Amino acid sequence: MLLALVAACCLLLVSQQGSTQAAVVEIPRVSSALFSEGLSLRGEWRFRPGDDMNWARPALDDQHWQLVRMPQRWPVGGYPEHDNMGWYRLSLRVDPSLRDVRLLDQLAVRMGKVLSAYELYAGGHLIGSVGRLPPLNEVDYDRERVFSIPESAFADDGRLVLALRVWGGEKALVDAWGAGPISGHFMLGNYRELMLDAVTAELPGLVLSALTLFFGIYHLYLYWRNRSLESFFWFGLMACNIAVYGVMLTQWKYATDISFLTMKKIEFGAVYLFPAVGIQMIWSLLQLPFQRWLRAYQLSFIAASFLVVSIPGHTVHYLSLNPWQYWSIPAMLLVPWVLLREVRHGNREARAVLLGTLIFMGTAVNDMLIDLVHLETTRLAPLGFIAVLVAMAVSLANRFTAMFGKLEAEVAERTAELRDANRQLAEVARVDHLTGLLNRRGFTEEGESEIRRSFRAGVPFSIILADVDNFKRFNDQHGHVCGDYVLKRVAELMRSRLRDVDRVARWGGEEFILLLPGTDIEGAAILAEKLREAIADNVFEFGEQRLSITMTFGLAGFRKGESLDTCIARADTALYHGKESGRNKVMIGNFRGLSLVN
Ligand code: GH3
Ligand code: MG
Ligand code: MG
Repeated sequence: MLLALVAACCLLLVSQQGSTQAAVVEIPRVSSALFSEGLSLRGEWRFRPGDDMNWARPALDDQHWQLVRMPQRWPVGGYPEHDNMGWYRLSLRVDPSLRDVRLLDQLAVRMGKVLSAYELYAGGHLIGSVGRLPPLNEVDYDRERVFSIPESAFADDGRLVLALRVWGGEKALVDAWGAGPISGHFMLGNYRELMLDAVTAELPGLVLSALTLFFGIYHLYLYWRNRSLESFFWFGLMACNIAVYGVMLTQWKYATDISFLTMKKIEFGAVYLFPAVGIQMIWSLLQLPFQRWLRAYQLSFIAASFLVVSIPGHTVHYLSLNPWQYWSIPAMLLVPWVLLREVRHGNREARAVLLGTLIFMGTAVNDMLIDLVHLETTRLAPLGFIAVLVAMAVSLANRFTAMFGKLEAEVAERTAELRDANRQLAEVARVDHLTGLLNRRGFTEEGESEIRRSFRAGVPFSIILADVDNFKRFNDQHGHVCGDYVLKRVAELMRSRLRDVDRVARWGGEEFILLLPGTDIEGAAILAEKLREAIADNVFEFGEQRLSITMTFGLAGFRKGESLDTCIARADTALYHGKESGRNKVMIGNFRGLSLVN
């Protein structure tokens, strides 16, 4: 594709040179139609290298001058024998009736880009200039201007001669880029219309740049919020870079007070950085390893950007642009190659970026040809950059959607785990760790719901409080470890003798509580007596020791309308009295007061 484009450009150049034989210039009669449409001056002009102020005079006979098509780029090397000076002339005739309707004084010329400074004369009068010609030598070659033509510039018969005095620039510039009126609009028309055209044509570029800048800053901000989004940082930097370059390609840059030289420094600095930031952006997006040679290659672009900005003057721009373009070719081949490899390996993120990069490469080749073989087409790189940005945005969005999905699944999993853990914790909080029975809290919770259930079903239930007798002394004699062992065995013993619906809990210390649904006080007394006997008869074997204990039981039957606490308090009173009356007893707290079972 590159070769085909080069060939096409050569053909174009040859055909341009072929059209330079002498011919008679038609003098267009410029009528009122040009007030709406304007008249293109991109036609044949007379050209002569050299410099003579007399060449501005309308009366000068320029028939023997060379005929060239505007815009026309001087050959590389320019005209050193003429100090790189040259003149262009164009004769026109406007309808003299325009003067009567006072339209003539609204005429203006719109000038495209001229390398590297010029003066424009109309009817022998200087009507405007861009940059400064020798001996001041100030280049200014990107500016497009509209110059008003004074009515006095027209001869009585409506004849108007435009003369353009061009300075090509220093040797280094002309050697690198050629010179002359190189591109853009060359028009005659109504001043207001021409200005309006110029402004509206440049608006999309400005808007696009502003959007890109916003995009860039937003991504930098996202990175600032979350430092793990490294791709966002490079993406943001790239977008800001593109935005700066985009503004520099429009005429809006002249709305600032920045000098032409500074603007060129900004433009070149931004452009030279592109490969470095672009590589970093794609490598970080695809999480590819950064080899040492690649880092060195990347650093060369950063160094180039730094040098072009810090070395004073324009000469460094002329000398470095072409080498920089050739030096970027490996990057332009490497990036799609790596992307293609990633796509082949099934990396879906690489697909969109590859497409964007290919579009960008097409536009970059177009722009390189503009610079290298002076192709007369529109610069497309900003659009190419936008394609890369959009591709990156799509790719980043895909990545974060996928990440978000994964994150959601993980959150759901963690939530389930947390719920399990909470359940376990709640379970643990209700259980006594020594005996494995319910603790006071667990018992109270279950007791409350048991009261409600029994109340609804209209069945009785009873409470038994059981306390180990003289356990303090037991501990003192046999030690705490032995005491713990006995408490565990007592718990097992009780549990083994209860029904499924009965609840037993460790009420605290060496005190246990039993809740017996569907059991009235008589039934509870029988059970308590059985438990008392079983414990008193049991031999606890702890190491070599054979030990026995006794327990005292206090009972209470639940009365309608009372609370669980009140019922337990009555059982406690009964227990207290059991202790009082000699321990190893079952004591009932009933309507008649207290009664001993055994
Ligand atoms: P009483 O017959 O009047 O109930 O006398 P007691 O000594 O059993 O009663 P007291 O309330 O004076 O003492 C209770 C003792 O129970 C004190 C403490 O050493 C013992 N104890 C409480 N909890 C534990 C425990 O978890 N492990 C062990 N080994 N001993 C405990
Ligand atoms: Mg006790
Ligand atoms: Mg006690």
